This record gives sequence, structure tokens and C-alpha cells, in this order.
Amino acid sequence: LEAEPLPSLPHSHSFKHTTPLPRPSPHLRRQLLKRSAAQSPGQPGGPWKEAGPRARAPGCAPQTSNASQNPQAQEPPGRPEAAPAPRAAQPSRPAPRTPGPAPRLSARGAEGRAAGTRRREGARPRWGLAATARRLGREPGPAHRRVTAAARAARAGITAEVLVVTSFDELQRRAPEARGKIVVYNQPYTNYSSTVQYRVQGAVEAAKVGALASLIRSVASFSIYSPHTGVQEYQDGVPKIPTACITVEDAEMMSRMVSRGNRIVIQLKMGARSYPDADSFNTVAEITGSKYPEQVVLVSGHLDSWDVGQGAMDDGGGAFISWEALSLIKDLGLRPKRTLRLVLWTAEEQGGIGAFQYYQLHKANSSNYSLVMESDSGTFLPSGLQFTGSDKARAIMEEVMSLLKPINITQVFRAGEGTDINFWIQAGVPGASLLDDLHKYFSFHHSHGDTMTVMDPKQMNVAAALWAVVSYVVADMEEMLPRS
Ligand SMILES: [Zn+2]
Repeated sequence: LEAEPLPSLPHSHSFKHTTPLPRPSPHLRRQLLKRSAAQSPGQPGGPWKEAGPRARAPGCAPQTSNASQNPQAQEPPGRPEAAPAPRAAQPSRPAPRTPGPAPRLSARGAEGRAAGTRRREGARPRWGLAATARRLGREPGPAHRRVTAAARAARAGITAEVLVVTSFDELQRRAPEARGKIVVYNQPYTNYSSTVQYRVQGAVEAAKVGALASLIRSVASFSIYSPHTGVQEYQDGVPKIPTACITVEDAEMMSRMVSRGNRIVIQLKMGARSYPDADSFNTVAEITGSKYPEQVVLVSGHLDSWDVGQGAMDDGGGAFISWEALSLIKDLGLRPKRTLRLVLWTAEEQGGIGAFQYYQLHKANSSNYSLVMESDSGTFLPSGLQFTGSDKARAIMEEVMSLLKPINITQVFRAGEGTDINFWIQAGVPGASLLDDLHKYFSFHHSHGDTMTVMDPKQMNVAAALWAVVSYVVADMEEMLPRS
């Protein structure tokens, strides 16, 4: 959370940075990728956010999230969208496809980037296909060279006409029109897990019908001209075309322009690059249990964030309330029967890499994990706890939450989840997460707007209180949460 140091934990806490962890073997990594791909984000318990390691390639959204318009193409003030007068006089007639000079839009990448952002980009972990190949111990092959060629093409610039669609279905219906064009997705925001499919899969679907590039309306519940970045995927056997996120406003404007019969040509330039991976670390702290020190209740959030914004909300808030849970319990002079462990995950946004390695190291001990908790969907005023576990465990969690009557947050919802704890939940360990106002969360998510300004200290205090009470009580019960 900004550059201020967090308060240090009292000395009786064991506190350590983990040593560099072994990389997953190629076999395990492939298995994980498969499992991640098989998991539908729309299902209960599915990730709100992108879960599991995914293959990345240059040309994906994060590097180009600040796509912006050429000033010439902007709508003149007082004359929205520059509707040609003759067409306004004949609204019922379909307009010709080429009404005079084409408005030119320029979606720019690196050129539009602030110097500070550019500096940080050099430190971003790398997930190009070539890097993945090296990680798996293989030499980059022709597929990786094609990606590099696509990235080079995008840096040099692609100029093509736009096809605006509002859904994958519309893209299929208009497939013959897509060849040689830049597909612009102007999909409405319904909810994150379904709308994010346009960011994740948009380039693949556009490439399948012969498009040269794709531009995705940012996946956001609200926009003040803010591009939102995030994960996207390529697919083996499908050309890896450049893709970027644009603002909701730009996507809607282009949609209106083409609906009047205007032909839009975009010059797309992107500065996306991939660099080699670098080591990073999970951060672990714990209060050792007084009676069952080998048994664990785990609280967590992730320390990394996207390059845009400060990551105050995603996921500084989750990291902070997890830290605060241990601090509060220590300040109150309490020590639960079993170990209360804080894990601040590294490299969640790059595909849950820190969580995967932690799971590989500790899964043999999973029978000793009573509950895993992660807060990664905001720390606004919580409406309750999401929980995945047996009916017996749920009944216990409802009793635990009834302790929070004084602050009027007692509900236990279904589908506890979190990118970093899903490994454990899938292995049968009870899991819990915080439920709060997701509409607000996805207004700022993965954008330059994710700063300390969106955080509310009072709401965070309530979230921290809930987190501390639940983790302490479950860690201090005589029995572990029943799994069946
Ligand atoms: Zn997050």
C-alpha cells in the first residue's frame, strides 16, 4: 500500500521470507494449465478473477491498455460523434459503406504511456510464449517466432478497417466481413465472469475469422474513460494477432459511428514486449498454535498487482486485512490453539504462480489445513462471507458469523473462492472469501484508478474485523472444520 512500511509484527511471531521455490515441473505445469482451462469462471466457486496459470503472449492487453484516440478523430464538443448532416436527414435509409473520407483513429500503446509506467514495465514478470518454452526447458519454436513476428507487426503498426460487434454470436454471423479487419468488441458488461471472456478469448475468436487484430471494450462495471487491463489467451493452431483493451467510451463511440454507416480505419500501434521471467517470493508470517501447532488456518491476499494504478484495491486491501487479522489477535494478547498463518502471494496476476508453488510444497500436509481464506474481491463494506465446505462446516461457519451481529454482518454465502486458494478448495479443504460490493470493485479493477483514493478506512476496518474474528475462532476451536 503505497510506499509506507507496514508496522512490524511483534518479535514472537515467526516471520520469514520464503526461499526461492522450485519451479513446477513441465508435467505439473501442463496439468495445471489443463485444469485451469477446464474450470469455468461462471460456475459457483469459479474464479471472479482469472484463475490458474495461463499462457501469455506479447501483444496482450496489459501493455496496451492505454490505447487512446488520435485527437483528430475525437468527437467535436457540442457535436457528438460528428454525424454527417445528410444522413441525419434520412435516418431510415441504410447508409452507404464509404461516405467520404474515413475518420482515422489511432490506438496507441507505448507512445501514450507515462514515463513512470514505462519504467515499471521493465520490472514486470514475463509470460511470453518464448519465455514459457524456456521455462519448460524447450527452445522457442516456430509458434513462438510467429508471436514475435505479430508483436513486431503491431509495433510497426497495422492500418485496417474496423468491424464492431457486440458479441461472439454477432462475430460468427458476420464472419465473412471480419477478414483483414480489426475487430472491435463492444460487449455490454453483465458480470465479470462472463464479460471477461471477451478479453480472455477475443483475440482467438477474431483470429479464427481472419481478423488482423482485436480491440476489447474494457471489462468494467463503470467507466470514466479508463482502460482496464488483464489476462488474455492465445490458442495453439490459431494465429496470434495483436490485441488491446480500449475504453468503454471509445468502443461505444465506434459502435455509434458504424451504425450511421461511417467507415472507420484504425492505425494500431502497440509497444508490447515479453521479457524473461524473474524470481519473486511469497511472504509468510504466522502465530504458532498453542495446542495444535501443526494444524493451520490460512489467511491471505496477493502482493502483486498490474502495472496500472497502485494496486491498492487489487489486492493491497486483501493483503492488508490479512496482515491486520494477525496484528489484532496479537494486540489482544490472544493465541489460538492452531497456527494462524498469513500468506501474501506473489505473481497472482501472472497466473497464480506463487500460490501454485506454495500448494506444491504443502499439499502433502493438506489434511492439517482447517480453513483457507483469501480476500481478493475488494475490502469495501462486506455483506458477508462466501464459504465452500461441507454442510456441517457451513453450520459451524454460520455460528461463527453470528458473533458479528454487533456490526450486522452475519451472512454466509455459497462459493468461497480466490485464485490463490482454489487449489486447496479443489482438494477438499474448506475455503472462505469476503463478499462486498463487486460493482464498485470492477469499476476500478485493473485500471489506473486502483489507488488509495478508492479505499475507505472505515470499511476496511470492518473487513479486517470480520477477517480476524473468523480466522481466530476457527483456529481456536477444539476440532478442525469437518470435511464431510
Ligand atoms: Zn487480485
